[in-house]
Amino acid sequence: MVNKIVFVAFLMLACAVDLYSCIPVSRNDPVIVTRAQWGAQPARGFTNLNTPVPLVVIHHSSVPGACFNQNACSQAMRSMQNTHQNVNGWVDIGYNFAVGSDGLVYEGRGWNRVGAHAAPHNSNSIGIVLIGHWVSATPPALQLQTTQRLIALGVRLGFIRPQYSLIGHRQVSATECPGQALFNQISRWPNFTPNFQFEENDV
Ligand SMILES: [Zn+2]
Repeated sequence: MVNKIVFVAFLMLACAVDLYSCIPVSRNDPVIVTRAQWGAQPARGFTNLNTPVPLVVIHHSSVPGACFNQNACSQAMRSMQNTHQNVNGWVDIGYNFAVGSDGLVYEGRGWNRVGAHAAPHNSNSIGIVLIGHWVSATPPALQLQTTQRLIALGVRLGFIRPQYSLIGHRQVSATECPGQALFNQISRWPNFTPNFQFEENDV
C-alpha cells in the first residue's frame, strides 16, 4: 500500500515536471536529449506555435558538420544556439529539433514554440535539422530513421497533422539546404510534397 502511494506520488511529480514523461512510449520512439542535457542557454523569448501544424521542413546544418556521439552533438547544438542567438540575434536556436548521426534527437524549441528556420512558414511548421553537411554525403541510416520516427511521434502526440506536407528548406527559400543527398532521401519519404504550394488555409 505504501509502495503504491509512493509510486503514484512519483508519477504525479514526474507529470508536473515533464508532461512528456506521462505519455506512454512506443518501442520505436526516438530518444530525445533535453535542452538541459545538451547545455542549452535559456531562450530569450518565445511565441506559441499553433498545433497541429500542417508542415514539416527538413534542414541540414552544413556547419557544424556531422556528429557521432552525444558529447559532439551537444557541442554542435551549443554552437548553433550561440550563432543563432548572438550572431543572428534570434531568441533561441532556430530549429524545433535536431537529429545527430548518433541516432539521438536533440530538443531545440520543441513542439510548442515557433521556430526561425524557414520563413515565411515558421508559424505553421516544425523545423528539423539533420546535423551535418549533406550535399554529396548521405546521412547514416540511423539518423534518417530517427528523423522519420520523430515525425511519427509528432503526429501521434497531436503536434503535426496526420495529413502533413513534408518538404526540404530549398522548396520555400533560395538555399541548397538540406543538401542534394539528403533531399534525395526525403523525396522518398511518406507525405513528401514535390510541388508544395503554400495556401492561406494551411496556417
Ligand atoms: Zn535550412
